[in-house]
Amino acid sequence: MEICSMSQPSSDQSVASFESKSLNILGEHIPVSELAGCEECDTVYRKVKLAAGERAYCVCCGAELYRKTRSLTSLLALVVTALIIFAIANSFPIVKVELQGNTSQTTLLGAAWTMFQIDRALVGILILFTTFIVPLLDLLLLTYILSSVGIFKQRPPYLRLALRILFLFRVWGMVEVFLIGVLVTLVKLVGMVVVIPGVALWAFAILSLLLVYIASVKIKDIWDEVDRCVP
Ligand SMILES: [Zn+2]
Repeated sequence: MEICSMSQPSSDQSVASFESKSLNILGEHIPVSELAGCEECDTVYRKVKLAAGERAYCVCCGAELYRKTRSLTSLLALVVTALIIFAIANSFPIVKVELQGNTSQTTLLGAAWTMFQIDRALVGILILFTTFIVPLLDLLLLTYILSSVGIFKQRPPYLRLALRILFLFRVWGMVEVFLIGVLVTLVKLVGMVVVIPGVALWAFAILSLLLVYIASVKIKDIWDEVDRCVP
């Protein structure tokens, strides 16, 4: 749906009042939380209430402005599911490694460790960050925010910092980085390893789909929902 109540404040028309968190636009005080800025063309809009599943688009450039997110608790359920699948994916062996005459099955983390053993520490660190640390940190931060707000109905400490880190992960493209990390691991180890088409591989495939969905929820929409639930 499109919003028609468009206003483009210029510097002399809008006076920021950060104490009251509202903007004076054309003589009317509007709370900042009621405004949405287009990320593509910087046009500012006054938000309208959306029904579940609806999205608001910019009338100038057509970019998506915001959408009605799922409830925080249902998003939390998805994130916890992703965490469980993450644990399964990293618990079962995904490759069979042959190193110095010994054959062993190992997890993706074990494969990263193998990189250290064959003096490819940089690749090992890359694998560790992209397939383990970043997705785990992302899911844990989301669990922290969503459970505090959705279940305990309170603003968690360091909320702003947590949301900023999550926003950075989205800017970097967490899912793309994760998929590239898994691919790099498997490609770099070609010749040394045989991929096991087992539980871990399927878990990584399902995890990728879940991460794509979770990453499609905009951080600023979560932020708005947090502000709405625990003002
Ligand atoms: Zn726009």
